Amino acid sequence: MIFILFLAVAIWLSYSMSKKAMIPIQTVYHQQQQFLADASHELRTPLTIMNTSFDVIELEHGEDFTPYTKEVLADMKDEVGRMSRLVQHLLLLARSDSGSVQFETVSFDLVPKLRLWVQAFESLARQKCISIRAEFPEELIVMGDLERIKQVVYILLDNAMKYTPEEGVVDVMLEAASKRWVLSIKDTGIGIPEEDRSRIFDRFYRAEKHRSREEGSAGLGLSIAKWIVEAHKGSIEVVSSVGHGSTFIVKIPHK
Ligand code: ADP
Repeated sequence: MIFILFLAVAIWLSYSMSKKAMIPIQTVYHQQQQFLADASHELRTPLTIMNTSFDVIELEHGEDFTPYTKEVLADMKDEVGRMSRLVQHLLLLARSDSGSVQFETVSFDLVPKLRLWVQAFESLARQKCISIRAEFPEELIVMGDLERIKQVVYILLDNAMKYTPEEGVVDVMLEAASKRWVLSIKDTGIGIPEEDRSRIFDRFYRAEKHRSREEGSAGLGLSIAKWIVEAHKGSIEVVSSVGHGSTFIVKIPHK
């Protein structure tokens, strides 16, 4: 009896002490999250200003520029665009960690939206001589956060474009099953080695470090896509073959 009592007190003591020991760690973690969120937020404004300033400079003096200046300006615009995307992603992840992102669940027909989102990639596809094929049903009413689902589609299409060489094909397929809807984005790109497949959904993980760096990647897109899909109680997986291509499959339950 005394032994049981002693054990119970010992367990209680160690539990309350470990809880106390966690407080400074949690505080530091919290402060770090807050710092990341604040820093990303503060960086957004100067980046937006830089972006619009480039447009003004181009509009007012564009005709006087030498080809070299034009090239430098275009590179600067690219870099600022890349930094803006990175900051946006960091801000979103910091907010997701602190649980301050609200999902707005609405019911909508995904088909016309998906057509629009795919269309947004057409000009990039033309530049890279990639053909995008779409296979959608007539209509598919889904429940979810429209903007966040758009973000998932953009991340996957952006990757499909980045990692598919010229003359490639990207297939976007949407189907409805009885309990869920399934979106597949299949490319004929470089593929992902088996040892990287389980890690590409981790933050800052890039399979082809050199190649993806050149493409302006930070390795945050898929971790955001996974977070959004899981917030919809769905799943995201990849099937890939090096040198042949990859298929990203998103499955989201209807309710
Ligand atoms: P990134 O911004 O680097 O593309 P992601 O998180 O979206 O970040 O992707 C992580 C890594 O997964 C990429 O760096 C790339 O190596 C690999 N990857 C993602 N999508 C594809 C794809 N469609 N084809 C080949 N590799 C891909």
